[in-house]
Amino acid sequence: MRILLFGPPGVGKGTQAKLLSTEFKIPHISTGDMLREAVAAGTELGNIAKGIMAKGGLVPDDVMNGIVKEKLSSSSTAKGFLLDGFPRTLPQAEALTALFETLHIDDYKVVELQINPEEVVRRLSSRLVCPKDGKIFSMITDHLQINSPCPACGSGLIQRQDDREEAIRERLRVYDATTAPVIKYYTARGKAISVDGSAAVETVNRAIKAKLQVNASV
Ligand code: AMP
Repeated sequence: MRILLFGPPGVGKGTQAKLLSTEFKIPHISTGDMLREAVAAGTELGNIAKGIMAKGGLVPDDVMNGIVKEKLSSSSTAKGFLLDGFPRTLPQAEALTALFETLHIDDYKVVELQINPEEVVRRLSSRLVCPKDGKIFSMITDHLQINSPCPACGSGLIQRQDDREEAIRERLRVYDATTAPVIKYYTARGKAISVDGSAAVETVNRAIKAKLQVNASV
């Protein structure tokens, strides 16, 4: 199974990606996670990405195309993969099509999760992350704040730089401006299916699998 998963920030794309990756036994390739790891490790890639990510902008296409090409050419992704966060622009989509041709891949599916933008702002601007174990909490449902101790390990909770409201709005603007044409690109190729991402996690997961018309063995 080869899936390209799309959706605006805050739609729960990462959560769905992890579920699908487990159910279909395919590696979850998140370009956002790869970049965050590079930033944390202080690599050359991390230094390029750091400032751009903090402002909610996009890392240059040639950089992203190179990272994804390397990943999809490795044996770990030969039997399938779930791509999360790529392609985000038309040049990235075109580069991926060219890469798929080289790798003789044409049996991929494109899934788009949809949600109201104001719900995204509400969800993300209240999100807190534990810097130590990566656990996610909500200021609203967990009644925690920035610097509250992580309920699991006691470390001070932080807000991701790009979860500040102005950065969220910029990420939504960037998503609309750049990713909408990418969805159209795949729709024109008969590849795209869309799913309501505002429902409960399990409901969204079932809807995706129903639309993929596959019974995943969990
Ligand atoms: P995400 O976790 O997918 O929301 O990605 C976090 C940030 O990483 C984005 O806001 C971008 O700055 C950067 N990023 C991730 N994937 C890409 C991509 N395919 N192209 C450009 N920038 C990306």
